[in-house]
Amino acid sequence: MKSPIPDYLKVVLDNARSIESGAPASYIETLAKADTSKMAVALAMVDGNVYSVGDDQVEFSMQSISKAFVYAMAIEDRGLSKVLEKIGVEPSGDAFNQLSLERGTNRPVNPMINAGAITAHSLVDGTTAEERTERILRGLSQLAGRQLQVDEEVYEAELKSADRNMAIGYMLKSAGVISCDPRDIVKGYIRQCAINVNVRDLAIMAATLSNAGVHPITGDHIIPQASVRQVLSVMTTCGMYDAAGDWVSNVGIPAKSGVAGGIIGALPGQVGIATFSPNLDERGNSVRGVAICEKLSRDMGLHMMDVSQIAGATVSTTVATIVAGAKEPHHPNCEREVIIFSLRGAVRFPGSERLSRALVRELGEPKPDDPGSGRYANTCAVVISLRDVYSLNTVARRILHESIKRLMGEGRSVVVVDPTEIFQLAKAEDGAKAGRPRVVKSEIEARYYIGGIGCSTISIEDDW
Ligand code: GLU
Repeated sequence: MKSPIPDYLKVVLDNARSIESGAPASYIETLAKADTSKMAVALAMVDGNVYSVGDDQVEFSMQSISKAFVYAMAIEDRGLSKVLEKIGVEPSGDAFNQLSLERGTNRPVNPMINAGAITAHSLVDGTTAEERTERILRGLSQLAGRQLQVDEEVYEAELKSADRNMAIGYMLKSAGVISCDPRDIVKGYIRQCAINVNVRDLAIMAATLSNAGVHPITGDHIIPQASVRQVLSVMTTCGMYDAAGDWVSNVGIPAKSGVAGGIIGALPGQVGIATFSPNLDERGNSVRGVAICEKLSRDMGLHMMDVSQIAGATVSTTVATIVAGAKEPHHPNCEREVIIFSLRGAVRFPGSERLSRALVRELGEPKPDDPGSGRYANTCAVVISLRDVYSLNTVARRILHESIKRLMGEGRSVVVVDPTEIFQLAKAEDGAKAGRPRVVKSEIEARYYIGGIGCSTISIEDDW
């Protein structure tokens, strides 16, 4: 069978081709001459599978798209608090090249406008413009999974018309935001913008953000998770120049665009998207790129505010009776009931809250106003099965550890079925060490532990 996805992408691309409005960026000579018939779209899944159609090998300069990744590098090199001292995170509503600083703090308002991006560039490791640009080129190449190059023609062309960015550099220096030679910093920033990519590179770079900083193909953990969150947050509020509000409501994917016609979108946990088409709207965003992203978001339900999964159905309970095994027919737990709580899916706060609520309800004292509560107050053992848990976040793990500690404090025997070691008992807080539950790999092991070797179970829904 042929995958329907490239065919679908082709239809989306062909439909967008009929949009004729916009014009390439005129202030950089090389970009002004861009072939406006070129168009491409790529999707990179977080497991590294990439789909692309159209002119997916055509290279173009990253321009402002580089800002998102260089911000991540500045955070890595200086630490988030140092970066926040220098660059704010408020959407500006101004044009990208506005000469402005935040009132009161004198910082650039965010890292996605030029003032903030030039500052972020200055915070990247390196004492000279060359060293900083090398560090950035290395970092961006690692994200793309191949060696990227600076487009010297684009660099030289932008340098010729860099007065405004130079003015921003001098403004930053006089405000004490940067300390080195503003010309060097701005030249480095312009080189960073002139790094060439194609849509496949960009989709993979975006998917690295979607994949919590882990490169979907190489598996390298490139960007720490806390920085990913920071970068995606500012992409959401400031990534599409002064069209951020329209973008968030229509597309709803953290994104960044560049004046060469590229756009990236990084939907957390799902997919990285990249589009290319040089004609820009009056805000500087690729007209066809925006249309493609709107269509993809609508058709594929990619808006981050779509409530597609209600976090309720992650706990199920079953009850089983332990049947004596031949080897240990007189085990004290035989013929007694065991209650099994199974967690499913990606468990976060709501899933762990459901579990702790179920534990309290089923195992606590019966409450007159809640018929059915306290049904299993006398159960001899509690099994918590994590077999179908795909991920367990830190808060869910903490609530689970604490609930188990409390059950054991009541003198109950607790068995955790954890074939993939997602429970990470070793990381339990000190209190939990006092009474550790039995952690086993399979249901059979759990049964043998509770009822003795060779025992079996009869459960109401016999899935245990
Ligand atoms: N090199 C461009 C500039 O600073 C980047 C602008 C952009 O892509 O928004 O003017």
